[in-house]
Amino acid sequence: MNMHANNIAGGARAPWAKAGTQPRVAIIGAGMSGISAVVKLRQAGYTDLTVYEKTGKVGGTWRENQYPGLSCDVPSRWYSFSFNLNPDWSHRFSYGPEIQAYMEDTANKFGVTDIVKFNTPVADLTYEGPQWRLTTGDGTVEHYDVVISATGVLHKPAFPNIDGLDTFEGDMFHTARWDHGVKLEGRKVGIIGTGSTAAQIIGAITHKVGTMNVFQRTPQWMIPLPQKEYATGWKWLLRTFPALQKLTYNFYFKAMSKNFGAATTGDQKKLADIQEACTKHLEEAVADPELRAKLTPDYQAACKRLIFCSDFYPAISRDNANLITEGITRITPTGIETVDGKLHELDVLILATGFDAAAFILPTKVTGENGQDLGEAWDGSPRAHRAVAMPGFPNFWMLEGPTGPVGNLSLITISEYQVDYIISMLNKMRDDRLEAVSARQDAYQHYNEDMGKQMPNTVWASGGCTSWYFDKSGNPNLYPYPPHRYLDDMHDPDFSEFRLIADVKEMQAANA
Ligand code: NAP
Repeated sequence: MNMHANNIAGGARAPWAKAGTQPRVAIIGAGMSGISAVVKLRQAGYTDLTVYEKTGKVGGTWRENQYPGLSCDVPSRWYSFSFNLNPDWSHRFSYGPEIQAYMEDTANKFGVTDIVKFNTPVADLTYEGPQWRLTTGDGTVEHYDVVISATGVLHKPAFPNIDGLDTFEGDMFHTARWDHGVKLEGRKVGIIGTGSTAAQIIGAITHKVGTMNVFQRTPQWMIPLPQKEYATGWKWLLRTFPALQKLTYNFYFKAMSKNFGAATTGDQKKLADIQEACTKHLEEAVADPELRAKLTPDYQAACKRLIFCSDFYPAISRDNANLITEGITRITPTGIETVDGKLHELDVLILATGFDAAAFILPTKVTGENGQDLGEAWDGSPRAHRAVAMPGFPNFWMLEGPTGPVGNLSLITISEYQVDYIISMLNKMRDDRLEAVSARQDAYQHYNEDMGKQMPNTVWASGGCTSWYFDKSGNPNLYPYPPHRYLDDMHDPDFSEFRLIADVKEMQAANA
């Protein structure tokens, strides 16, 4: 690309596409999507990149979550960067520390780590057409031509609103803030929640604690995780013939998105297969009919985010495990009291109560055109155009933004497609010497209304459950069509869905 590097740090400057300079790009977050963004933007010739990371390490969710039993239920061969496939995955479904090491290795190998400003949260982003003023937590101000939010979906722990939570005198922590200093062996442990996180933790620690008290508000469907360790010979084969790595990546990509993606978005036959597999799993793994009844959901499998876990049922069936289904009335200094008046005494209380899934880039304050505040615009129901853009927020892009396909898919792949889409937009700006690009209000509205009409056909909306997918609007914040449709659309951007602004000041004067 024939563009000079921008060496004017800090202050506002001439619009990049007209000046023929590199755009200054700020990427917020050094997790999987931030890493994808840096690598792919560089490969496309965009080199003036800065990554802001609130903590001291890359890795995002894999840095944040360090609980026992943490693993990924998306197959390793697919849960990989397409530009850095890994022949050495030890298991079909990787464990957390191995994924975190892979994130760090990828960031080092592709020179991402070097451009990350660590321990630097972004406090404020304000659009000063056509650039963005970025203010960090310590008050440092920089200007950028383009901002890419790569903050992830589930990063803000949700704490339960239960009376007396602060009065508990034992050890207490949220699963995303695991306290490795707390001894579990032989102690009375309680865990609130039965989501993907809780299932993995319960499967991993029940055998070593004194008693495991699981406080279940809603039972979950679980499908067995077909885990297996990869043989040395298989790793050798993949290393020696890299084309095989691509083949296995594509195999899992197609299998997961075409089968699971189709099942959740309307394919009743595939959905019935999932239901049957979950029911069979429960029947075979839990011998006690009373326990099995308590563990049987009254909604359709895959309505809540489906849990892949083979360790939970054996763990909850152990003699030292109690499944408590009576509602929680309050937390006391010594334990949890339930509606039957019973006090369950605990030494350790683990909050597996999930995340605020409507946060995305918030609580960073983002102010777009005409002083529009992103948090206010969303008002608890975040929406976006194609999950990456918001009308009124030009030159601001999101990875894994609202209404993207998340489900049980590889978010690494989804974010790579989104980065490619953003690169197409930057290329368009460069080629047409544009100052700003912003989603059109009518395109955004049409896109979201259409998704709203389709949503009832999904199991998330029609399966008779509630889940973290639902936002304040009462609808799941997800993509309601098979994921391939989204990916195909992202592959081929329609520029007519955007305001392509040649001169921001001229446009502002015309609108005044
Ligand atoms: P979650 O699915 O939101 O589960 C939260 C649990 O806490 C639910 O069982 C919920 O009950 C319960 N809960 C919340 N507030 C409560 C309260 N006040 N009283 C009693 N129970 C309460 O959270 P998560 O398990 O952390 O998982 C979140 C997501 O992270 C997953 O769905 C998945 O997308 C991702 N994840 C992925 C993996 C992986 O292997 N790829 C592993 C872990 C997590 P209700 O069901 O009644 O609301």
